[in-house]
Amino acid sequence: MRVLVADDSLVMRRLLESTLESWQYEVASAKDGEEAWAVLSSEDPPRIAILDWMMPGRSGLELCQMVRQQGSPDYTYIILLTSKSQREDIVEGLRSGADDYVVKPFDRHELEVRLRVGRRIIDLQSQLLEAQAALRDQATRDALTRVWNRGSILEILGREVSRAQREGRPLGVAMMDIDHFKVINDTYGHLAGDEALKETAFRVSGGMRSYDFFGRYGGEEFLFVVPGCEDRNLIAYAERLRHLIESEPYRLAGQDVAVTASFGVTALMPGDHPTPDQLIRAADEALYEAKRLGRNRVCHSTVRQASSL
Ligand code: GH3
Ligand code: MG
Ligand code: MG
Repeated sequence: MRVLVADDSLVMRRLLESTLESWQYEVASAKDGEEAWAVLSSEDPPRIAILDWMMPGRSGLELCQMVRQQGSPDYTYIILLTSKSQREDIVEGLRSGADDYVVKPFDRHELEVRLRVGRRIIDLQSQLLEAQAALRDQATRDALTRVWNRGSILEILGREVSRAQREGRPLGVAMMDIDHFKVINDTYGHLAGDEALKETAFRVSGGMRSYDFFGRYGGEEFLFVVPGCEDRNLIAYAERLRHLIESEPYRLAGQDVAVTASFGVTALMPGDHPTPDQLIRAADEALYEAKRLGRNRVCHSTVRQASSL
């Protein structure tokens, strides 16, 4: 673990550096408040900082306040170094955002255990952030395919519709449904069906731009949201994805299986004001048409305007 040591006394810095290094900490040093702030406000700052109270540039106290105001999600554990005369001000130091203090000249054993407390806090905080991220992931991703789940892709659609209308740009919306998926389940088993869903998501994501979105809308139906894409480009886009599915057989339950999918596409054009529901309905109608015409194809439908309904 990296630790920032900020002290204007060279002797104190060297002493802290060698002490910390003997405990296997990696040390970053700063000789004044400005240097310390440069380290603390860098992209990946040390998670523990030992700051001298009195330093030119900025005091340890000021640095505490600045770190806390920065509001970074990663916590910085701050230990203030104080001389005896400042000890009575320690309440002020803790109020400014310091987590602990050590009186100079420091006692090795005391510093060692106080650093260990800091590591414990940092570790706990990292675990908490990881748990938060995992929960967020669970709430927004489809457990099987790892793409956006229904709630998330609908939220994205709502957001992108508003943005497209605000910016006067087109927005492509496509619905994809795997053809005769029930037959895959019935012939090769439900697990093979699951594999087919994962493989489909994988192939499709390989053909998409990083700023386009797709999510699992339902069973074997996927919804695409393609900013800046109008009708003609969207049809070509969906054709490309359709080809990625059709071009190579899937390997399911040890066998080569031909899989295809149908697409229904529609687009919001500049000046249009359809609701997200109207876009989905139009894409759905086009998908139904693609199924009716024999599947494994892309059909287009013009979205009906809010005003005309
Ligand atoms: P069509 O070409 O008209 O779309 O026919 P289809 O068989 O694909 O459509 P249908 O809606 O009749 O069947 C969809 C099937 O998808 C039924 C359902 O059991 C299956 N399914 C839905 N979710 C999952 C899943 O998570 N895993 C698996 N293995 N199957 C699923
Ligand atoms: Mg289907
Ligand atoms: Mg379906």
